[in-house]
Amino acid sequence: MAEFTPDTQRINTTLENYKRVKEQVSEAAVKAGRDENDVRLMCVTKTVEAQYINPVLDEGADLIGENRVQEYLGKKDLLHLDGVERHLIGHLQTNKVRQIVGEVDMIESVDSLKLAKEISKQSEKLGTATNVLVEVNVGREESKSGIYIEQLDELLHQISELSFIKVKGLMTIPPICDENEVRKYFWEVHKSFVDFKEKNIDNIDMKILSMGMSGDYEAAVLEGSNIVRVGSAIFGARKYF
Ligand SMILES: *Cc1c(COP(=O)(O)O)cnc(C)c1O
Repeated sequence: MAEFTPDTQRINTTLENYKRVKEQVSEAAVKAGRDENDVRLMCVTKTVEAQYINPVLDEGADLIGENRVQEYLGKKDLLHLDGVERHLIGHLQTNKVRQIVGEVDMIESVDSLKLAKEISKQSEKLGTATNVLVEVNVGREESKSGIYIEQLDELLHQISELSFIKVKGLMTIPPICDENEVRKYFWEVHKSFVDFKEKNIDNIDMKILSMGMSGDYEAAVLEGSNIVRVGSAIFGARKYF
């Protein structure tokens, strides 16, 4: 097989994209009357080869998101991950939990008690607790993972009883829609986030609100997001393999 030579042009474009998106995220934070350091930019690296991810990490990106357990485990050794936080953001099957616990700093896609219990169980075996976000399906879409907003109270209380899993906030992917509508969805999740923060449930530390992707990260920041997960606006359109 021919040796893989990274495309210099693509590396340059990726770096330019990264800097531009980072600037726009800061600007949106300021526009929302917030501190620009309030909002973190996650580089979503799914389907992207390490050769294109590393230049961005070398440029200072400190948070990556991957969707699939197998893909991440297969490429992590090639990545420049010193000082970089790693989040799993894709739907997680219970039978994959054992492989990913301990390999990432946060699992953003917890949407059932069954999954939470398995994460807690596998974390206990490693003698650590795993930080997670609970995923909310704000648009009540059949095609999406996540729980409905009205199920949050029960699930958060149930998870709070588990010793080796710590809820740090909420994550959501809204329906594809226009800017006005998407802001309503973000607003709704932010409102729950604030409500649960004020409820001070034992063991639940509501501090991260992960929302906003390539098409809507500015809207998300305006509505209170503090992690935006951006893939294609940085790395270009994804080729699925
Ligand atoms: C792929 C993905 C993203 C990034 O999507 P883009 O539109 O490419 O920015 C963000 N969050 C999740 C959960 C994803 O699966």
